[in-house]
Amino acid sequence: MLTVNAYAATSPTAPLAPTTIERRDLGPHDVLIEIKYAGICHSDIHTARGDWGPVTYPLVTGHEIAGIVTKVGTEVTKHAVGDRVGVGCMVDSCGECRYCQGGQEQFCIKGNIGTYGATGKDGQPTQGGYSTHIVVTQDFVLHIPDGLDLDVAAPLLCAGITTYSPLNRWGAGPGKKVAVVGLGGLGHMGVKIAHAMGAEVTVLSQSLKKQEDGLRLGADHYYATSNPETFEKLAGSFDLVLNTVSAAIDVDAYLSLLAVDGALVNVGAPPEPLSVNVFSLILARRSFAGSMIGGIRETQEMLDFCAAHHLGAEIEVIGADQINEAYERVLASDVRYRFVIDTSTLS
Ligand code: NAP
Ligand code: ZN
Repeated sequence: MLTVNAYAATSPTAPLAPTTIERRDLGPHDVLIEIKYAGICHSDIHTARGDWGPVTYPLVTGHEIAGIVTKVGTEVTKHAVGDRVGVGCMVDSCGECRYCQGGQEQFCIKGNIGTYGATGKDGQPTQGGYSTHIVVTQDFVLHIPDGLDLDVAAPLLCAGITTYSPLNRWGAGPGKKVAVVGLGGLGHMGVKIAHAMGAEVTVLSQSLKKQEDGLRLGADHYYATSNPETFEKLAGSFDLVLNTVSAAIDVDAYLSLLAVDGALVNVGAPPEPLSVNVFSLILARRSFAGSMIGGIRETQEMLDFCAAHHLGAEIEVIGADQINEAYERVLASDVRYRFVIDTSTLS
């Protein structure tokens, strides 16, 4: 066992605090990673605060991990000491079901093993990236291409793949009009990636405060959803609306923005149920769908795509003692556009 420094939530309401956790001994297929950077995803906050249901504390969150391989198990073939690597939201899955076999481990029939808040195959609780080291089976470790610095690459492991996967699946590209709702961690990567895929991109944000940034990141248009005229003006105009908002939205209002056959894809994960008037769907053969991260193969594809297009996240690097403040700022939509923890400050 390796005892490592970490930062943990200890209750739904207490501030996160320094702690130590144990990492398992290296099995034959395992890789030991020295974590350099860990992004703060809004899902970390939902989970730590029990928004999605009860969790077991202490809980070390963090599923946007970038670091360096420092040791490999005897059977490891995919990674070597010194490699620049990443770990996202999953650290294992059954490996045998049709989804795992098809490279969609996130939909593993037995349930993928989450990077934190789950039970690993060793029977121990999994603990995430707000720590100095992690041990992960080689198949769930991604290569970070040389063109991407580790700090701006870390958020790609969740925010990048969670937006890349639906943009890819719903065909964002030349001739397609894509709206991204919410310009936070996921949203800003959605804008960059959709633009790089060749789509015409519109940001729908609560206000125009971040308009200049949105246009710089690759958006062609930017509207405030607080202005009711936005919904009138844009009615029936998009092929795809990607909703990244962490709170409940008016689904019918966003469906009304879709052209015939358009899709509203929800990646934002508020705890409350959302209601939908079926006529919003029926009258223009629209779809309302969800999407969860992406498989390992697709995550590597996304990292390679981002490297080729020079797309890293826009980040604010923080020390461990700023994690609680960062949580409050994310909750206040005051993030530009991802907080990334420099894990050397955990030591
Ligand atoms: P984030 O950085 O906090 O961004 C969310 C953005 O939504 C905010 O920046 C804000 O953008 C907008 N927003 C927040 N509260 C709002 C409200 N009450 N009304 C309208 N707009 C609001 O969060 P994130 O890390 O991108 O995560 C977003 C959501 O996706 C979270 O629910 C997270 O759990 C979920 N998630 C899902 C997956 C998946 O696999 N499906 C993966 C990762 C995360 P503006 O200021 O521009 O309006
Ligand atoms: Zn996440």
